[in-house]
Amino acid sequence: MDYPGTYYAAEIGAIPRKSPHSQDITCDVCVVGGGLAGLTTALEVLRKGKSVVVLESHRVGWGASGRNGGSVSEGFAESAENIARKTGPQKAALLHQLSRDGAQYVRDQIEALKIEAAIEGQGVYGTVRHGNTDAAKRQADNDQDLGVVFHDRTATRKILATKKYHHSLYIPDSFHIQPLRYVLGLAKEIERLGGQIFEASKAERLTKRNNHWCVLTKGGEVIAQDIVLCTSAYDFDLMPKISRAMLPIATYVMASAPMDDALDEAIKTTSFVSDTRRAGDYYRRLKNGRLLWGGRITTRKSRPVKLAGMLRDDVASVYPQLKNLKLTHAWEGLMGYATHKMPLIGRVEDGVWVATAFGGHGLNTTAMAGCLIAGAIADQDEKYRMFEDFRPSWAGGIFGRIAVQLTYWFMRYRDRRDERAAAQRDG
Ligand SMILES: Cc1cc2nc3c(=O)[nH]c(=O)nc-3n(C[C@H](O)[C@H](O)[C@H](O)COP(=O)(O)OP(=O)(O)OC[C@H]3O[C@@H](n4cnc5c(N)ncnc54)[C@H](O)[C@@H]3O)c2cc1C
Repeated sequence: MDYPGTYYAAEIGAIPRKSPHSQDITCDVCVVGGGLAGLTTALEVLRKGKSVVVLESHRVGWGASGRNGGSVSEGFAESAENIARKTGPQKAALLHQLSRDGAQYVRDQIEALKIEAAIEGQGVYGTVRHGNTDAAKRQADNDQDLGVVFHDRTATRKILATKKYHHSLYIPDSFHIQPLRYVLGLAKEIERLGGQIFEASKAERLTKRNNHWCVLTKGGEVIAQDIVLCTSAYDFDLMPKISRAMLPIATYVMASAPMDDALDEAIKTTSFVSDTRRAGDYYRRLKNGRLLWGGRITTRKSRPVKLAGMLRDDVASVYPQLKNLKLTHAWEGLMGYATHKMPLIGRVEDGVWVATAFGGHGLNTTAMAGCLIAGAIADQDEKYRMFEDFRPSWAGGIFGRIAVQLTYWFMRYRDRRDERAAAQRDG
């Protein structure tokens, strides 16, 4: 069982395996899932003096955490407006602050643990392919203290040489990372503090015995006071109550061969770029002259046969001058989405905790969730209850997946229609 063929894994080279779980162990906390939600929880619980075992069915960071776009920014998968509509503005502001703290946590760990070559760049351009500039100007005015800058069409096109963008907002606070390096840095610190991480160790069943939980793997049992489920879209069997509330959504990424000269002409920034369509592209230049590009969502879990060609076409549709790029890596990953597009964070029953469903905005929110759950377990801190407005509810199984796919196609249709209208309007 190895890492998927991502650019990130290739760039690091051989990553030593951790042994599988092979005997009964007793600990305070058993974390299931070695992605960022699981590892952050484990690290924070350890720092609070509890003993920890992490069970990972593949390799640490094998799931979305080791193969994402790497953009770390505040916020959630759900929009700030929709969150405020549900919770009211005061609570929404507190939730937003937690999401900012999550992004800061990532930066702090990288610095404190000296995780080498993990930070890859600073700032994000939110580009807009159609739509009204007034709203963007208003946002730049409101967020002046955060250094947010509005770029009109001419200014945007000086930086991003494509006719696709109408205007953009530059947000300097965000940054981007090599996510697998970050994952491995957290795992190293967990082990340094005495936590145990087992790879190739799928949690197959959970049972309650007296006051303890037993997590069964092929190698034996982990007996713990508390268990934390962080399996995201890669497990649907352990706790049906949670998995029924989540839909697995696939998304895709590619990396090109080095092509500095062509990129110097087309993308004149090392900041992250994403477009604000309902299902948009995101990309960034890598330090060694490559382009990393991601986008599209589907509800199919298998890899499309023509994935590389699809992503190359996406690049060429924005930057025709890059149509001859050579692709070296293309991969897919699964995100877990609840129907409300907010994470599921909290206590499912006595001694069972969950931190999952971070969607496409997980780098900051997994950090936030890990801290909240660790605080709840070790210090009885009830801050996690802030997420009680976003409870699990049935996501519709296969019918939900069909509905999501139809919504995505409809969103793409609307994006293209709006873009055509904007192009006609602008001449
Ligand atoms: C292609 C892609 C691009 C993305 N880009 C960004 C981005 O730029 N910025 C951003 O903020 N977010 C991004 N995201 C989202 C972000 O990566 C995720 O929200 C986040 O990594 C989820 O972390 P996690 O720990 O919940 O899940 P995962 O990282 O998926 O980890 C779950 C782990 O659980 C393990 N597991 C499952 N079942 C079991 C079991 N029974 N026993 C033991 N282990 C088990 C799996 O093997 C897996 O390693 C992206 C996601 C994808 C897929």
